[in-house]
Amino acid sequence: MEFLQPTTWAEALEARAAHPDAVPICGGTDVMVGINFGHLRPAQLLDLTRVADLREWTTEEHAVRLGAGVSYARVITELGDRLPGLAMAARTIGSPQIRNRGTVGGNLATASPAGDAHPALLAADAVVEVASVRGSRRIPVTDFYTGPKRNAMDADELVAAVHITPPSGPQQYSKIGTRNAMVIAVAAFGLALHPDRRTVGTGIGSAAPTPRRAPAAEEFLAGELDAAGLWESRAELPAGLAARFGELVAGSAAPIDDVRGTAGYRLHALSVMARRTLTWAWAEHRTASGNDSAKEV
Ligand SMILES: Cc1cc2nc3c(=O)[nH]c(=O)nc-3n(C[C@H](O)[C@H](O)[C@H](O)COP(=O)(O)OP(=O)(O)OC[C@H]3O[C@@H](n4cnc5c(N)ncnc54)[C@H](O)[C@@H]3O)c2cc1C
Repeated sequence: MEFLQPTTWAEALEARAAHPDAVPICGGTDVMVGINFGHLRPAQLLDLTRVADLREWTTEEHAVRLGAGVSYARVITELGDRLPGLAMAARTIGSPQIRNRGTVGGNLATASPAGDAHPALLAADAVVEVASVRGSRRIPVTDFYTGPKRNAMDADELVAAVHITPPSGPQQYSKIGTRNAMVIAVAAFGLALHPDRRTVGTGIGSAAPTPRRAPAAEEFLAGELDAAGLWESRAELPAGLAARFGELVAGSAAPIDDVRGTAGYRLHALSVMARRTLTWAWAEHRTASGNDSAKEV
């Protein structure tokens, strides 16, 4: 197996163009599983770990530009205040060892419906930056997932970064698995309240062929909060609102029965997670200072 080891981003993109069959490897926590189990035997690996740019995060126009090679551990320790939803999701991933190696870029490229970064990125309206020797382009994360473990990248492209605007309101993440750690989600849900725009963001994991949003639930909740003046008054949620939100979230899912759970269980779990995360997020909104402008980054 040949090991390509670019040290700059330009070299990495050239190597990607010259060796389209080479498999990129960053943290290796997906790639090495495939190699160790004999499912993957690439002639070449394109090692991205020496490309320093990929491990950087910066701020650009009020958004965090998170390099594709930033580990979950660093998202938690360095960005927990700016990107709370993604950090919550990151805390549920694997073990400390996996969080030290695994990256958001690797999660995006794998594009598993069960990947934990996705619901948080969807709820936060993240934008994926991909690049090739032809140039770079930005893809809204909603358009990034094209099928089970498939994404919108062309064969010569790499994930450069993901852009996430720090929230003006609370974010939550909830995951159900057979235990509390080292577990693939049976179902997962990410929620973001955006009081500055009076909108709601959602992300569903492990309950459809791709990670997806729940548009009907988002519109319903934003509309109800608006109509009752609740964004400003921060009064208690009307009875039944959170439960209805949960039903609408489940209505946007399209789960299957598999070894981890049944479709019916996943739908029930989603409605419960959506109801609970909304209750937690609203409690946080009610006690927040009232500064609805996006947090400074
Ligand atoms: C024990 C264990 C537990 C796990 N638990 C979880 C969990 O709880 N939740 C979860 O979501 N995941 C989990 N995973 C899966 C894995 O850790 C994540 O998907 C992680 O985000 C992968 O990141 P990585 O950097 O290790 O990717 P890699 O393994 O290096 O790569 C993953 C894929 O992305 C491609 N790739 C990597 N970087 C780039 C790039 N910059 N541009 C283009 N393609 C790229 C690779 O070619 C490969 O196809 C677990 C894995 C293990 C082994």
